[in-house]
Amino acid sequence: MSDIEIAQANEQKEMQPITTIAAKVGLQEQDIERYGDYKAKIKLTAFENQPLPADHKLILVTSINPTPAGEGKSTVTIGLGDALNKLGAQTMIALREPSLGPVMGMKGGATGGGYAQVVPMEDINLHFTGDMHALTCANNTLAALIDNHIHQGNALNIDQRRISWKRTLDINDRALRHTVIGLGGPFQGIPREDGFNITVASELMAILCLATNIHDLKARIAKILIGYTYDRQPVTVGDLKVQGAIAMLLKDALKPNLVQTLEHTPTLIHGGPFANIAHGCNSILATTAALKLAKYTITECGFGADLGAEKFLDIKTPKLGKHPDAVVIVATVRALKYNGGVALADLKTENIAALEQGFANLKRHIENMQRYGLPVTVAINAFTADTPAEIQRLQALCAELGVQAVNTEVWEKGSEGGKALGEAVLASLTAPVDFKPLYEPETTLTEKIAIIAQQIYGAKDVVYETKAKKQLKTFATNGWDKMPVCMAKTQYSFSDDPKALGAPTGFTLHIREFTPDLGAGFIVALTGNVLTMPGLPKQPAALRMDIADDGTITGLF
Ligand code: ADP
Repeated sequence: MSDIEIAQANEQKEMQPITTIAAKVGLQEQDIERYGDYKAKIKLTAFENQPLPADHKLILVTSINPTPAGEGKSTVTIGLGDALNKLGAQTMIALREPSLGPVMGMKGGATGGGYAQVVPMEDINLHFTGDMHALTCANNTLAALIDNHIHQGNALNIDQRRISWKRTLDINDRALRHTVIGLGGPFQGIPREDGFNITVASELMAILCLATNIHDLKARIAKILIGYTYDRQPVTVGDLKVQGAIAMLLKDALKPNLVQTLEHTPTLIHGGPFANIAHGCNSILATTAALKLAKYTITECGFGADLGAEKFLDIKTPKLGKHPDAVVIVATVRALKYNGGVALADLKTENIAALEQGFANLKRHIENMQRYGLPVTVAINAFTADTPAEIQRLQALCAELGVQAVNTEVWEKGSEGGKALGEAVLASLTAPVDFKPLYEPETTLTEKIAIIAQQIYGAKDVVYETKAKKQLKTFATNGWDKMPVCMAKTQYSFSDDPKALGAPTGFTLHIREFTPDLGAGFIVALTGNVLTMPGLPKQPAALRMDIADDGTITGLF
């Protein structure tokens, strides 16, 4: 059965009312705003003034570098949450919201798979509670206000050639990467070059995920850099005086969304920045709510640990005020074989030699997470083609690093298939944790980039292209040169070359340009050819999707 068939069979029979799910973590009717029978938003007042109990634990799920198919990180995160609840450990899951870009494109949704899914999966993967639309609308409202300001006399002296604020759309649409707007004569505004980012790469998405309340949301929006004046002075949203209006458009999007797994584990799905071109973590508010409401919180971050986990630990953790107590790295035998040079079509054939070679990728991720001082467990997300010899070899290789690797069958069996992983993770939580950040906040931007490139990616050095070099000078002038950095890099490799699989060393990391996200509080460093507006593939997933006359959806994975 496909993911959607499993989910639909369950949705018709077994979903519990959202009030029942809310009650499992002590939330009453007045604490939530219902969106139909099975979705709700949690009011901030339901948790914001509660203390965070010191014995509540945070478990971060990350993974090796993925193959083009995605390797089941969400599936394992959901299955682990269900398994912990089954083991009697009160658990909440905190995930990111899917973007319509990958849903219609190639990678798929973000609601897990098999018997480890969140439901109602059609709603969550499509328009859900409207957060993405609110973000897109807020983003484009700001763009319209900027263009209107210039049209109406440009009191702020904004140089229309130096506007950095782009429009957004939550669909992969390469034709919108570079646009010209304002054509058609004096009544249509001032013509200028513009472009679109995918909503999940927008600064507003990052801000929504890092804001701790409405006050903070508004203050961050006020700091957003929208461009420069003709005499090269930065212009912010605060200068335009529209932070209140933009924050207002996000008032509901700011509240975490509550749903359930197939096994009724309360799950928050909130905020969805991509991890290759944005910071890759769900919202601070959702993670905080889960931490306060449940004894154990399982959360995930995007793509491999070089991207999502590095950003979770270096960008999100300081803002959250709590570091993870344990890390789970999801690996699959087939992805390691792919990293060991096996073609996608041949991944079903046993190949211990390729597994051993590709293990270099997992090894570096394990060592990177250990470098932060965190206990690590490996979850081997079992695929039917894995052979016992491959699994044993992988477990032995992990054991040599002092790490337990647990075969995990949550996709096939739900929580039953995740009990062994759950037990291993609970055991790992008893180890003392001495969290060591990768860099100190006061180090410079280029020092931070060098540390990430060399210590996490394995690079020899970092080269800045002309545009990036010029921007560094501007950042120094404006006092932005000590901000945290958010790396934008291909997810397929530790390097900026998507074809360099395994654990490459001795390479140069190329920084093409920067985007100062002053409201989010970091500078995005764009490496290699990474794009902030993806394109659709030759065979988009949309070709398989349909809706029947009675409203039944098919082909949504
Ligand atoms: P990620 O979070 O790494 O992108 P997902 O958990 O979203 O990956 O899973 C991607 C796809 O792979 C889903 O369609 C899911 O059903 C499928 N999948 C995940 N784990 C397994 C497995 N063990 N066996 C078969 N398919 C799986």
